[in-house]
Amino acid sequence: MRSGGQSGVWTVSVIILSIGTWVGRVGPRPADGELALLTSPRERLETVRQVLSEVPLIDGHNDLPWNIRNFLHNQLAEFDFDKDLRQVTPWSKSAWSQTDLVRLRQGMVGGQFWAAYVPCESQHLNAVQLTLEQVDLIKRLIEKYSQHMQFAASSREILEAHGRGRIASLIGVEGGHSLGSSLAVLRTLYQLGVRYLTLTHTCNTPWAKSSSVEDDDEDGGGLTAFGETVVKEMNRLGMLIDLSHTARTTMRDALRVSKAPLIFSHSSAFAICNSSRNVPDDILKQLADNGGLVMVTFYNYFVKCGSQASVSDVAEHIYYIRNLIGVDHIGVGGDFDGINKTPRGLEDVSKYPELFAELLRSGKWNVLDLKKVAGLNLLRVLTQVERVRDDLRTAGITPFEEYLPDSPDTIGNCALDINSVQRVTEV
Ligand SMILES: [Zn+2]
Repeated sequence: MRSGGQSGVWTVSVIILSIGTWVGRVGPRPADGELALLTSPRERLETVRQVLSEVPLIDGHNDLPWNIRNFLHNQLAEFDFDKDLRQVTPWSKSAWSQTDLVRLRQGMVGGQFWAAYVPCESQHLNAVQLTLEQVDLIKRLIEKYSQHMQFAASSREILEAHGRGRIASLIGVEGGHSLGSSLAVLRTLYQLGVRYLTLTHTCNTPWAKSSSVEDDDEDGGGLTAFGETVVKEMNRLGMLIDLSHTARTTMRDALRVSKAPLIFSHSSAFAICNSSRNVPDDILKQLADNGGLVMVTFYNYFVKCGSQASVSDVAEHIYYIRNLIGVDHIGVGGDFDGINKTPRGLEDVSKYPELFAELLRSGKWNVLDLKKVAGLNLLRVLTQVERVRDDLRTAGITPFEEYLPDSPDTIGNCALDINSVQRVTEV
């Protein structure tokens, strides 16, 4: 009985000790280069949370600004971004809403490229004005919630915002149609703080081909001479070139012309899901040579080519790309608020840590790998883009002045032919 009693005490002590170790695991996370062989989901999430407090998790693409346009006509007075929008109409009723500040904080998002997207239907009409309105909206949103968000336009500013506990908020313009075929508009967008341009959305522009229009690999050039100039001007300005949505021919041309690394702000691996929105292997290899980055996206139709997917399916894309070109060229671009089918376990912006915990579960990922995918890779690419800009400035490269005299943006039913006006007023 006594011995039984002692054994009982011993058993209880062991259990208490085990629970204590499990519950109270506050020790150092695995070192950066050390394989993180963490057995429990809780340990993995704890390690991820520590990692994301050290390095900003930077997502490549979020379409909230377009939803604010759709639902609220850009009236921010009616928008409570700091509420759980699952409880607020019309957001609660929309399958396209996955973002609010409450959940961004839960998801430990440290940096976000907000998409200044306007539809292709506005091309050659009022695309430039609508884009300016979306840029204005994003800036007003950041200002209204400045205790949570901080405008960022450089790698240094991303780190500064993260250091202050605010979500570094960057602007990306999704689609070359937003330029109105004008390098002056491109430069002005840069001055307003836009830090990437997706060369096309779902329409061709007069100078670049879209994957939604030109699926054919062999169908001539993707960029015209003017399109190549757009890329060069982006290099000169220090703006990231985004190839999501572009035709393969455009991808290849941009990779050939650009002096700086390129990104895919929200695309996954074509070899796993053969959507034209995903990146084929040969392009991935060129992207690695270029030093660029593919920010893996979460839309079920690009993850599994169907309506159902899970967080581990997204991880499969990441494993695949890592095996092909290495961990230095991977990021995340969820496309939240631009999608209506999200993977199980990655339903909204609060779930990013689950994805990183899933990567740790493989037992093949160390902490430095996680940091790279979370944000270090994007920071490296942006820093390199800034360096190319500085080098070109030092080399005395001046703004490009080409223009497209025959673009529908320049001459057509909806454009004033400014050249003809000049000739009249000269008389
Ligand atoms: Zn998109």
